[in-house]
Amino acid sequence: MSTHFRVTYATLSADNEELQAAYDAGLRLATGWLGAVIPGYVSGQPRDAGELFTVTSPGDLSLTLCRVHAATRADVDDAVRAAAQAAPRWGRTPWPERVAVLRAAADLISERSNELAALMSLECGKNRLEALGDVEEAADLIRYYCQQVADSDGFTAPMGSLNPREKNVSVLRPYGAWAVISPFNFPMALAAGPAGAALAAGNTVLLKPSPQGSFTAAKLYECFRDAGLDPDVFHLLPGGDDTGAALVAHPGVSGLTFTGSYAVGMSIYRQFAGSGYPKPVICEMGGKNPAIVSDRADLDVAAAGVARSAFGLSGQKCSACSRVYVQRDVLEDFTAKLAERAGSLIVGDPTSRDAFVGPVISADAVARFERAVEHARADGDVVTGGSVLRGAGALPDGYYLAPTVVTGLPADDWIFRDELFVPLVAVAPYDTLDEAMTLANDTDLGLTAGFFSADPGEVEEFLDGIQAGVVYVNRAAGATTGAWPGVQPFGGWKGSGSGGKAGGGLYYVQQYLREQSRTVVA
Ligand code: NAD
Repeated sequence: MSTHFRVTYATLSADNEELQAAYDAGLRLATGWLGAVIPGYVSGQPRDAGELFTVTSPGDLSLTLCRVHAATRADVDDAVRAAAQAAPRWGRTPWPERVAVLRAAADLISERSNELAALMSLECGKNRLEALGDVEEAADLIRYYCQQVADSDGFTAPMGSLNPREKNVSVLRPYGAWAVISPFNFPMALAAGPAGAALAAGNTVLLKPSPQGSFTAAKLYECFRDAGLDPDVFHLLPGGDDTGAALVAHPGVSGLTFTGSYAVGMSIYRQFAGSGYPKPVICEMGGKNPAIVSDRADLDVAAAGVARSAFGLSGQKCSACSRVYVQRDVLEDFTAKLAERAGSLIVGDPTSRDAFVGPVISADAVARFERAVEHARADGDVVTGGSVLRGAGALPDGYYLAPTVVTGLPADDWIFRDELFVPLVAVAPYDTLDEAMTLANDTDLGLTAGFFSADPGEVEEFLDGIQAGVVYVNRAAGATTGAWPGVQPFGGWKGSGSGGKAGGGLYYVQQYLREQSRTVVA
């Protein structure tokens, strides 16, 4: 059996030789999978009638990872029908049985973490520790939701009684067939998390992964299958945006979780509700996340926290910090420290042990970066970075970008407004905390926000006024690094999240359930 380590996003150093050797073994195993042709799965049966698309590695464009059969309209119809038919059976299955099979799936994910992480590094460019963290988070999210179902006795609670002959009970019950549409940047955790919550709650699941996460999703599917999950309860529908749209429009889908960009999420939110009666839809969307650095801050801690948040996964985390407001008298010092850190980060092949910054996901992302850098050069300053490193030096032929810090742009510039999802952070000065808070909150989004100050009064003001779902103060590890089920739940406010209940948090799994109040007279 492979060696297995517990890695969270807070695992800061990678100097554990055993961990590295275990990942290397996982990489050898995952490399042996390359070239696979991946079908969808409906009721456990492979579906290969759909058009093939090719998945290549963003870190090495000469590396073809797999070819995938996109689900056809008939595959979607069959899967929704089977999921809807199986839903009453799965929903009535006593919760200890449901939870047992899901916990077995979580254990398989943990057992296979090295090869799953290595595959993820190849498929979405995540570095070693980030990929291991994503896999472990997937398993822990499932475990956490199972524990919540267990702790609440399957969300059954006795209520008061107005008459001694009446027995009143509140029960949370599932909705039916639940679609999960996931993004490229957390191909395990944001597929397994919502799917795990839906399944633990007693819904059946239709998973539509990101095209650039298809291989990882197929391996996740295998974990549920190998754990013995009823094949009618979990269906895999790979494909592009059209496959997702077919699920959103399907009348047989009773609930839906989408994680992805704001524009797509909002259109799904509007469309899914308009089908006769309100249906639950959870949309977790983008971020344009600020950090505020006061002149009372430890500037080294602030620079470390911002650099980790801005450049981890090449700026492609929904939690990524992309704009920093710095009190004017420390602007120069802070910017110099941030630039130094940015310049010292190792950009490289994400499967290599030293790389912190891997590639971005696509040529589109490179183009967004180039446009922003060109604009910053014209209207402001590029303090460090700014270059496209594709094939530079010893780098493979992939979408590598230099971690970039820009300044000198007005605070209402589009670079402070649009989610770019690249390793670029913009810095601007402020004079009063009030002004900084107004700037930080001046966005339709509200995912993460950071604050650096040694002044407790300022910290209180920040915590009271900031409009974001995940906030951190004086944290050298920055945003999300360390977010973990049952420890630091993760979810957005405003345009960053329609559910308003954080994943891995106290109130998440209940969103997959509806209340039934039962009165029985003896
Ligand atoms: P995306 O919106 O392009 O795609 C997400 C998923 O939606 C993919 O599976 C895609 O195929 C599908 N899709 C696209 N158009 C669709 C449509 N019209 N109907 C149905 N499905 C459709 O996002 P992405 O590029 O994969 O991911 C990056 C985005 O996700 C960023 O904006 C990031 O901030 C966000 N994100 C948010 C969170 C969070 O927790 N709030 C977490 C991770 C990523």
